[in-house]
Amino acid sequence: MSGRLTGKTALITGGSRGIGLAVAEAYAAEGANLLLNARNPDTLTAAADRLRERFGVNVDTAACDVVDRDAVAAMAAAAEARGGIDILVNNAGIHRARSFLDYSAQDFRDLFEVNFISVVHVTQCVLPGMIARGGGSIVNLASTAGKWGTPNQSAYNVSKHALVGLTRCLALEVAARNVRVNAICPWIVETDMATDFIAEHARIAGLSVEQAATNFLNSVPLKRYVQPAEVAQMAVFLGSAESSYVNGQSIAIDGGRTMI
Ligand code: NAP
Repeated sequence: MSGRLTGKTALITGGSRGIGLAVAEAYAAEGANLLLNARNPDTLTAAADRLRERFGVNVDTAACDVVDRDAVAAMAAAAEARGGIDILVNNAGIHRARSFLDYSAQDFRDLFEVNFISVVHVTQCVLPGMIARGGGSIVNLASTAGKWGTPNQSAYNVSKHALVGLTRCLALEVAARNVRVNAICPWIVETDMATDFIAEHARIAGLSVEQAATNFLNSVPLKRYVQPAEVAQMAVFLGSAESSYVNGQSIAIDGGRTMI
């Protein structure tokens, strides 16, 4: 299927690699124009060039840290001047694994700032334009870590629990303005983040990386990691009119690990 997002413009934070890049590819394949954000301008520009060449859609870039409220406001104002954002994918995020006692208070602050407060910044800057133009869709990249507990990454999990909570509350506030808000909650997705995640958990548990990876894979019914493209297809669904009555949901992509 193609053309499901034709005429739409999507802002994807953390769109230069990993899940964000897969969402950008899937959105471009469906005809969306893109505004991609990440901090590293070189990776971002290279990704945008490849997307333009491959899909023939408009791809703008905004290299900034989503924790920086002023930079986010400038990014949103520039996007508004070019016609506005119809779909916002809040995807930028970081992971850091520690035992609870080894996390510093600063670790908690860092994870909360990037994984949650940045979503507040971007959404508050983009939402007024979305409402003024008659509606839109907001897709938050949370995690299964936003739905359940995990040992040795409590600071990450609470930041994602906050994002799931915001998804529910905001969905209620803006539904009458024709803005839907949903979250995607994947289990381990094969990206740079997952490579670091498995290595950190191996170190904390005193296991080899191979043993830690085997343990993770044995814990999920499908016995494999999530592919970025599998997350991207859910983001297309939630961004498009096909999900027009789906609102306030935090949808697990976890290979059947949880069934509630
Ligand atoms: P990734 O491979 O590490 O990519 C992260 C992306 O976010 C990059 O484009 C990075 O670019 C950007 N980014 C990071 N911090 C940023 C900041 N402060 N401001 C702007 N951009 C920033 O991560 P991923 O695995 O694709 O994860 C994407 C999202 O899915 C995250 O929210 C993550 O928590 C969530 N998630 C991941 C998994 C997983 O297993 N991989 C599972 C569930 C949920 P720069 O470094 O250039 O800024």
